[in-house]
Amino acid sequence: MFKINENYLKLPGSYLFSTIGKKVREYSEANPDKKIIRLGIGDVTLPLVPSVIDALHLAVDEMAEKTTFKGYAPDLGYEFLRQAIATHDFKTRGVTIALDEIFISDGAKSDSGNIQEIFGVNNKIAVCDPVYPVYVDSNVMAGRTGDYLTDTGKWSNVIYMPCTKENNFAPELPKESPDLIYLCFPNNPTGSTITKDALQKWVDYAIQVEAVIIYDAAYEAYISEDNVPHTIYECDGAKSCAIEIRSFSKNAGFTGTRLGFTVIPKELKCGEVMLNSLWARRHGTKFNGAPYITQVAGAAVYTPEGRTQTMEQIAYYMNNAKVIREGLQAAGYTASGGVNAPYIWMETPKSMTSWEFFDYLLTTANVVGTPGSGFGPSGEGYFRLTSFGSYESTIEAIERIKKL
Ligand code: PLP
Repeated sequence: MFKINENYLKLPGSYLFSTIGKKVREYSEANPDKKIIRLGIGDVTLPLVPSVIDALHLAVDEMAEKTTFKGYAPDLGYEFLRQAIATHDFKTRGVTIALDEIFISDGAKSDSGNIQEIFGVNNKIAVCDPVYPVYVDSNVMAGRTGDYLTDTGKWSNVIYMPCTKENNFAPELPKESPDLIYLCFPNNPTGSTITKDALQKWVDYAIQVEAVIIYDAAYEAYISEDNVPHTIYECDGAKSCAIEIRSFSKNAGFTGTRLGFTVIPKELKCGEVMLNSLWARRHGTKFNGAPYITQVAGAAVYTPEGRTQTMEQIAYYMNNAKVIREGLQAAGYTASGGVNAPYIWMETPKSMTSWEFFDYLLTTANVVGTPGSGFGPSGEGYFRLTSFGSYESTIEAIERIKKL
């Protein structure tokens, strides 16, 4: 008789966004006259920029002609896109990445969830707490963790690195040595980031303990301060210990269009085996490429017009972030983030739990955010607001919160 992967049974239901949806639905049904403002979910709201749309139209037309039609994409992705990435995301930062070190994908969620496959099941992972849940859940599914402990909200056999206000929401080097270290900067959910010097310490540490850093830089485009690394490869030695994952979702609004990439330098080896070769093998076997039209659209993001237009969108979201952060602070709340990331991380007032504050905000201000405890035990007592709403609704949400 067939057997299932019992690791899946260990996963508690992913209740965060479904519980939020249910609570909002119920409240809105009971109070149809209330205008609810949603600053909870991390999805963009502005449309694709004109240069991306133009590129998409042209690529669609190419697909209509026998002479320009494209079938399966090359395994690693089209060279024109990998070249644009190598030039604009890395060369401009003083980093040389070869084209065969870049793997085009359908987004950072798939890559950050799938990358663990090339590592042995007996590796120990270290994650930030709070954390983007994909890193942990994908390792649970693979059998790399112990059990979920309901009393602590943690998995056994996982190293948690608390990110709290005491450490400015940047993890400290763990006492126990991990094999795989997941880092995400700028961070979801805390909106914090890391300086180049601090990231260099992580790279040095990973080399020392012979661990691999899986560096999720999905929010790189939101970095506004100097001395915040745009890629982990700005750090010395990172090519021998780090994988970097990127996305077109938040810099160019591709959440529904789907495009991302992963960089695995050839220097990154386990003994004589290059992780690049393992990922190439996995990619070639299990993935048939991001669509041609999407890759053409992705390349348009790197054109001068594409860059100007997407940067305008980021500036729009970051202005919302400023409105939220400064508005909350003016109202007496403790809030951080929103400077190099589209997320604002606020402390819940009056010792309310994250969920108590969720209910309070929904019912008194009709504003929806995300309870910090949904991202891990160290998120308890915190609340995440996102800057992806419209300027008008963001202003209104903050005005309502200020009046509470
Ligand atoms: N990584 C982080 C940290 C995220 O917050 C998200 C989306 O919210 C993703 C990856 C997913 O990106 P993509 O849309 O490219 O799958």
